[in-house]
Amino acid sequence: MSEPEILFPLSFDSASPRTPWKAEMASLVRDPQTLCALLGLQGADAEEIRRACGDFPLRVPRPYLNRITRGDPQDPLLLQVLPQLQELTETPGYSADPLDEAQFTPVPGLLHKYQGRVLVVLNGNCAIHCRYCFRRHFPYKEHQIGKAHWQRIVDYIAADTSIREVIFSGGDPLTVTDSALAEKVRQLDAIAHLKRLRLHTRVPVMIPSRINDDCLAWLRATRLQVVCVIHANHANEIDAEVLQALDQLRGAGVTLLNQTVLLRGVNDAAETLIRLSETLSEAGVMPYYLHQLDAVQGAAHFAVSDAQAAQLMQALRASLPGYLVPRLVREDAHSPNKTPL
Ligand SMILES: *Cc1c(COP(=O)(O)O)cnc(C)c1O
Ligand code: SF4
Repeated sequence: MSEPEILFPLSFDSASPRTPWKAEMASLVRDPQTLCALLGLQGADAEEIRRACGDFPLRVPRPYLNRITRGDPQDPLLLQVLPQLQELTETPGYSADPLDEAQFTPVPGLLHKYQGRVLVVLNGNCAIHCRYCFRRHFPYKEHQIGKAHWQRIVDYIAADTSIREVIFSGGDPLTVTDSALAEKVRQLDAIAHLKRLRLHTRVPVMIPSRINDDCLAWLRATRLQVVCVIHANHANEIDAEVLQALDQLRGAGVTLLNQTVLLRGVNDAAETLIRLSETLSEAGVMPYYLHQLDAVQGAAHFAVSDAQAAQLMQALRASLPGYLVPRLVREDAHSPNKTPL
């Protein structure tokens, strides 16, 4: 086994005892050998993992890695990030762009598919590479938002008074610096017909130190109602540090929702989903969507049948208060909303 990757010798002036988020981003585990060594995965073959990555490289943040049980190849958090050779299998009915998003892109980097809401692909960077991700083949390089692009996006939003909400997505919008985010939000604040800003982000769970004073400052400063949709698939993802970050977000007036992707081997059991809802509730986060997997090439081994999904929903409804039951949905390429199942 090789030496673990070295932490970049960056210096920060934060007084926080937590590792600053930029240092976490600089020390993401990207090397299969390091992953196996850190997790004590004796049986795993680093070369095989490297091959399984295809064109979607391994990427695991260390705070998340710490929540994985050492030596357990079936750990539900590990399975979300561990490249498997099945990813290379071509599956009929699965495609590189299952949502056919190109046609809803009036301006590069902006998706206007649903009434009243636009989704902005702020960047292509993520703190983690989830193996089931429907954006794993997304042509991010063609969608890099430069200054000129961003201005076109602002102009589009300003010109359409039916738009009430802007959704920052990606990649992950919280991998963008706070100074850049603060500037963008200031521009959106000035568009009178906007009411809400939504963040779709996995970062508060992946790298909780991201929720620092600079981040909380622009969240507090905006006149827009801020809704943050985190993305946790399993209760084990939520530890004390994550709880603290979520608490700080709520303290800044942010409404917290969670979306989960239903994944075979990870959370396709009623007791797992019940525990997730209970844990979210303790964290002040309301379950929002439970997504059926998008049919993206390379993710077929995570698929759960609609029949099994319906059974799981029945079990959730039988054991949880209604407000802790997420809505089971699928994203259809041509539907004007997420499709309830
Ligand atoms: C999911 C999604 C939204 C938001 O949908 P909600 O049902 O409001 O959560 C908006 N735009 C696009 C392109 C989406 O995929
Ligand atoms: S964080 Fe979100 S966008 Fe990034 S890889 Fe995971 S699911 Fe995909």
